[in-house]
Amino acid sequence: MRSKKRGAGYGRENNRSDGFERSSGHSCSDLLIIGGGAAGMCAAFAARKMARSQGIGDEQFVITILERNSSVGAKIRISGGGRCNITHAGTVKDLLRKGFQRKVEQRFLRHALHAFSNEDVRAMLATCGVETAARDDGKVFPVSRNARDVLEAFQSMLLNAGVHLVAGERVTRAERLEEGFRVASEGREHTCRFLVLATGGVSYRQTGTTGDGLDIAISLGHSVVKPSPALAPIYLKPPPPPELVGVSLRGTGLRVQCSGTVVSRNGDVLITHKGVSGPACLSLSVDAALLLNSHGKGELTLDFFPDHSSEEVAVLLLRHGEAHGSQFIRKYLQAQQAIPSAMVPYVMLQAGIDRQEKWGSLTKKARRSLQRTLKDFSLGWLKSIPLDAGEVSAGGVALQEIHPGTMESRVCSDLFLCGELLDYTGEVGGFNLQAAFSTGWLAGSSIRYPVQA
Ligand SMILES: Cc1cc2nc3c(=O)[nH]c(=O)nc-3n(C[C@H](O)[C@H](O)[C@H](O)COP(=O)(O)OP(=O)(O)OC[C@H]3O[C@@H](n4cnc5c(N)ncnc54)[C@H](O)[C@@H]3O)c2cc1C
Repeated sequence: MRSKKRGAGYGRENNRSDGFERSSGHSCSDLLIIGGGAAGMCAAFAARKMARSQGIGDEQFVITILERNSSVGAKIRISGGGRCNITHAGTVKDLLRKGFQRKVEQRFLRHALHAFSNEDVRAMLATCGVETAARDDGKVFPVSRNARDVLEAFQSMLLNAGVHLVAGERVTRAERLEEGFRVASEGREHTCRFLVLATGGVSYRQTGTTGDGLDIAISLGHSVVKPSPALAPIYLKPPPPPELVGVSLRGTGLRVQCSGTVVSRNGDVLITHKGVSGPACLSLSVDAALLLNSHGKGELTLDFFPDHSSEEVAVLLLRHGEAHGSQFIRKYLQAQQAIPSAMVPYVMLQAGIDRQEKWGSLTKKARRSLQRTLKDFSLGWLKSIPLDAGEVSAGGVALQEIHPGTMESRVCSDLFLCGELLDYTGEVGGFNLQAAFSTGWLAGSSIRYPVQA
């Protein structure tokens, strides 16, 4: 049976040049998608593609996106600092291994990434004239380095797909009916046969992601892993001294420790006026937030030589000291690429070594202290890891409640969930957009179309 009230009202009042509509009164769609981000738009493309491939006309299968903002893709527009790190190069296996820490996430996302891979994303953009290129580190960007080009491509694909976009429409409730769903959005009502929830995470709330989708998912029977910060800066108490603000460290070890629990990452770190940021910090933030949450505190330290053990550093210092007795310790430290020169006085202070000290007069105890400091330089104590400042949020709808092969809910049939709303967290590098595209695509292509009468 085809949805009885299909297409009522939509598509006929669309006279805005940007393709957006304002809905009025009651509306009815076959497929309703809540959230016009990367996942929601891909769900719409895939659903339309599947429908057309089965000879189902656009008017016979009405697809509507309800988006609370005045336009779609707010996060695509700001992603990658406005350059849009759209995906990551490599095989699906590479993407899962590099992009997602937890085995449960890797298992869950495998199907979606095979259904719509990084190459599929790039090919889709290429059909709209947006060429992409991979950097040496695997990050893929549009050649123009302009996120707006990506967004415009998505907007034109939505128009070509005959998808009805209803902007400025904040959904507040959804309810399962005997057949389909009733969805309420600030004074209006929508009914649909199939529902896709693609409302994103809970960080960068000004982009529209305030967690509405989580409440809707709960009301439809789902459980939610409490959102927590991820890919976020770490704030310290006390904040770093002004002389260190703006200092960046390459390939350093960043560690948070408390009562024997240690979490760490290696990579680039930037010291900010509130604490730290940079790729290693963003990646560590999810574990650091969990540690802070469970222990109430945690110390942030730097390992200037993450590729060498403490013993190796001890031997290195001993040999250097024996060979360069007349050299100032500070000169040696300043010559180390791993230690920014602005940090040298702080390293010496923490190691308890005077700036006039030379290798020849350094005691064994002081050398040990220097070695410990180089491997474990304290930058301060965790103050907070702001949820809203994260590029993504961890937590979300529990993965075990979603069929990984279709993105359909296991607890509410005909409901599909996709994107950052789900309890996965990608690393920096294009993995989060890719996961949103892939899960959205899989959701849209998994809609079981009603058999024609
Ligand atoms: C600053 C920043 C930079 C980033 N850079 C990158 C990058 O370079 N590469 C990368 O891979 N990832 C990046 N990310 C992460 C990436 O943008 C997200 O993971 C991805 O966009 C999530 O897609 P989504 O469709 O699941 O959610 P979103 O893109 O967040 O879309 C959800 C949509 O749902 C709408 N919505 C929410 N609630 C309602 C409601 N009640 N009713 C109607 N609509 C609603 C929102 O307005 C929003 O438009 C970045 C994130 C940020 C914040």
